[in-house]
Amino acid sequence: MAPTQPQPPPPQTNNTLDRVHAARISKTWPLLSHGGPLVTRNSRPKGMDNPGVLCYRRAVLQCLLHVPELYRYLLSARRCRCREKGCVACALRRLAEVYWSVRETEEVQGVVEGVDGALRSFVGHKDFGQYDFLRNGVQADAMEFLEGLVNMIRAREVEVSGRGRSISRLFNVTTRRTWTCEDCGRTSALRAKDLAIRVALPKELEGQPFDSYLRACFQDEDLPDLRCESDACVVDHPEGRNRTRRTRIVHGPELLIIQLLRFDFDLKVMNLVKNPYRVPFRERLDLSEWTVDNTALKYQLHGVVAHRGASTSSGHYLAALQCQKGSDVATANDMSIGISSDREWLLEPRRGDGDEFDSYLLVYQKVGGVMRVVD
Ligand SMILES: [Zn+2]
Ligand SMILES: [Zn+2]
Repeated sequence: MAPTQPQPPPPQTNNTLDRVHAARISKTWPLLSHGGPLVTRNSRPKGMDNPGVLCYRRAVLQCLLHVPELYRYLLSARRCRCREKGCVACALRRLAEVYWSVRETEEVQGVVEGVDGALRSFVGHKDFGQYDFLRNGVQADAMEFLEGLVNMIRAREVEVSGRGRSISRLFNVTTRRTWTCEDCGRTSALRAKDLAIRVALPKELEGQPFDSYLRACFQDEDLPDLRCESDACVVDHPEGRNRTRRTRIVHGPELLIIQLLRFDFDLKVMNLVKNPYRVPFRERLDLSEWTVDNTALKYQLHGVVAHRGASTSSGHYLAALQCQKGSDVATANDMSIGISSDREWLLEPRRGDGDEFDSYLLVYQKVGGVMRVVD
């Protein structure tokens, strides 16, 4: 009888997400955060009261609260502690504390109102005229709300520390656009920052995998009007030439927003018209192909803001959320919370009664990175 061969050890990997998928560690919310486990006393989502048409704010706040790195950012020691009524950063920190504490859902309502109040007074005092819609109770676009919120937190961070680098590292997608002049060989590079990767939804991509949408976002552009940065070259070659410009990611944020550009202005009806087809985004997102030098850049989905209705400034918004218990997803529809183990709820948000919504903002957290608080 032949002796029993020793079994080879299972393949080892250091990547947290790989280990999660190999089911060797549990898929819990804190483990997907960098810098060690993040333990909160409550782990269940809580509803948020909507006094009228503020569902767009509630859906965005729910998604943000479900990203561990944002929680870590808000609670880190160097953040604002002024506790003034008009401080958006303190109001959001207070919301995160109460939301993930054992306090009752009713207590969340007061602090959510505190966020509304802080936005109202901040817009009034700090020259944020473009976000005037935050001063009153009108319905607005969820992405515009998110932009306003981040810009106000950044303004406060700058006031407190003289810099706004932490919030920028948390949210900004930094890209580098390069092109080379065929006449003189000079390469020009331009850095750009944005709060989101904005993904167009042309009809011809309907039914294609999500990678096709990203490829379209990062495809080389032929730009006839791009002129060489060398004055001498422009004099020598007065005729314009087509230039090919390439865009690649230089810095991937800890918290990545993908905005699905569902709304196009239709000249026939003189209004925004929504493109409602389903976009097949996934829970895991690999952007490595679109970074400079193909640096690894991977993300995990934590929330989706979804919308039902004809225009972003009407209809209804809700949020689909990754729960702290890794196998569960939740739908947060104002005060009502539905929890399910059906992962499709995250990829195709619905109200819980089968009523479907169109995904609009996808909120991802970086996998395997390290968030450094730099100021
Ligand atoms: Zn403050
Ligand atoms: Zn040139």
